[in-house]
Amino acid sequence: MLHIKNLSVSAGKKSILKNFNLDINDSEIHVLMGPNGVGKSTVCKSIMHQFDYDILDGTIIYNEFDITHSKTYEIARHGIYYIAQSPVEVEGITNAELLRSAMNEQGIKMDIFEFNRKCLEVCKKLNIPKTFLHRHVNVGMSGGERKKNELLQMFLLQPSLVLLDEIDSGLDVDALKIVGENLKDYVRETHASLFVITHQQALIDLLEPDFVHILKDGRIIESGTKELAKEIEKFGFLRANNVSGSELSE
Ligand code: ADP
Ligand code: MG
Repeated sequence: MLHIKNLSVSAGKKSILKNFNLDINDSEIHVLMGPNGVGKSTVCKSIMHQFDYDILDGTIIYNEFDITHSKTYEIARHGIYYIAQSPVEVEGITNAELLRSAMNEQGIKMDIFEFNRKCLEVCKKLNIPKTFLHRHVNVGMSGGERKKNELLQMFLLQPSLVLLDEIDSGLDVDALKIVGENLKDYVRETHASLFVITHQQALIDLLEPDFVHILKDGRIIESGTKELAKEIEKFGFLRANNVSGSELSE
């Protein structure tokens, strides 16, 4: 499904990812952990080819398509959906408008009645007011509300790979449980895959990831099961591999 091979990326002349490798198959949940500033968000931004990140070397293949140098909208059309650490506000366009045009672009055929029914169903599932649909995208929303709003879009667009960058930030305990359970159900129902950046053990317990990876020096230095996340929570990144945030962000 997603195959990242020997990827090297820099931003603002700073080398961030170096020979980074990652393979994600259908229906798999991967968690990425690592100290602040190590390059976790850069992995998502590189996959989405954000304009200020330079891909120096390596390849990103998604379902047989080489998307390494594709435009962000082309990558999205392939079915990759990204929920940023801090989702941006889009003044002047409502969620419903954005969703209708995005669904048209994706070739998802749905009449207005079906669209309304589906929107209400997702709002209920995520415990968000249906007035969200008519609000401008993320405008005036709290951190947690933005995350839920991005999830609302995700459930309607039905991506095959979802990149979630610290989805837990801003979510209260009840919201975290709702989000975790719904994401897990989404994987079960659609066989989509998740790439989740988080340090929140409660979310990891809900998602039961197939793999947990640790990022250091621009590449994954250790992969394991959810037990690895428990070990990190207990002993920190300074354990066996002597990973330190400051040394990494130089
Ligand atoms: P993480 O998500 O692991 O905390 P990031 O991927 O956001 O880390 O950033 C990795 C490092 O690259 C940080 O030191 C950050 O300051 C730097 N960085 C990220 N984006 C840019 C940019 N556009 N210009 C310059 N430096 C950047
Ligand atoms: Mg980050």
